[in-house]
Order: sequence, then structure tokens, then C-alpha cells
Amino acid sequence: MSPSDKSETRLGRVLITEAELDARIHDLGQAIARDYAKEGETERPILVGVLQGAFLFMADLIRSIPMDVSTDFISLASYGAGTSPSGVVRLQSDLSVSIERRPVLIVEDIVDTGLTMSYLKRALSARHPRSLRVCVLLDKIERRQVELDVDYIGFTIPNVFVVGYGMDWNGRYRNLPYVAALDDSGGR
Ligand code: 5GP
Repeated sequence: MSPSDKSETRLGRVLITEAELDARIHDLGQAIARDYAKEGETERPILVGVLQGAFLFMADLIRSIPMDVSTDFISLASYGAGTSPSGVVRLQSDLSVSIERRPVLIVEDIVDTGLTMSYLKRALSARHPRSLRVCVLLDKIERRQVELDVDYIGFTIPNVFVVGYGMDWNGRYRNLPYVAALDDSGGR
């Protein structure tokens, strides 16, 4: 699919190309492996992907990390209408393993207001992981409503609603290999 295939869609401009995603994710993988090795971490880190938006990022990221890792997934439901998250979050489907005393890296598609990630960090911290870090592909820093530490950030993006590379709008566009804006997303 190419950015010009937008007949009857609301796809806007491409923000991050496939090549840019590849290059940045490769660098993130190297940095993550370096950091865990530097700490002399003996336990295998467990990467927790947040469904559904992070599934493609997770798949590419783990292949860029040159060390032994485990994976698991969690699914959150956030109540909101259309393109505006409400900040009310609920755990929809839990991890399949215990993270107690494990080094944990949360892998998420976007941090926007920060409310979802802040909820998730609190929920996972309560399970006593050995360490808890966060890796996000996209950061909309100007939208932040809560203070949040993010350890690894792929790209900082402006306040536009984005789709593609795992991220959807009403269930569509997850399979685009690049990140694009929705064409009417500028004035939210
Ligand atoms: P937050 O709680 O940080 O406001 O929102 C986080 C969640 O809202 C993200 O994990 C993502 O699922 C969704 N979200 C926020 N901004 C966007 C966006 O621009 N595009 C898409 N597809 N989802 C978004």
C-alpha cells in the first residue's frame, strides 16, 4: 500500500516512513540491550506489549534487541469517543506470567496524555518487578497531563491523531507499514 492509496479514506500525510521506523527501532534495540547488559542484569527481561496498538512495534523491536528476552502482552480498554482518550482505563486482558522480581519493559505505541501509561505503570509496579521501564514508539509530549518517566522514545510527534504501523482509527489502518496522520486531525 502506498500513501497515495487513500481513495475514500481519511488518510493524511505520512509522518514517519518505513525506512525511518526501521532505523530508529534498530537503534532503540541496541540501546535497550546495552542498558540491561550494563546493569549486569542476569534475569532475562520481559517485554510487555500493550495490545493492540503496539503489536507491530513489539515484533520489530524484539528482533532488534541482541539479547535473550521474554515477551508477554496486556490489553487495556480506555473509554473515549473517537480520537479523544478519556483517561479512564481498565485492564481488559492480563499478562500470562508473573513479573515478580523480573526486569520488565513496557512496550507501547503512543504516549499522549500519559494517563494510560501512568495507570499501567502503577498496576505493574504493584506486582513487584525487579525494575520497570517504558519504551514508546511515539510521544506526543505537548499533550501530557501527568508527569511520566519514559525511558525509551522512538519519535516525538506533534499533536495530530496518527494511524498505521499497528495504530488504528476505528479499527482501520493498522496494516500500513508507515505512520500517517488522519487528514482532519489537526484541530482537536
Ligand atoms: P493517553 O492515555 O496517553 O492519552 O493515550 C494513550 C493511548 O491512546 C495510546 O496507547 C493509544 O492507544 C491511544 N492514542 C493516543 N493518541 C493516538 C493517536 O494519535 N492515534 C492512535 N491510533 N491512538 C492514539
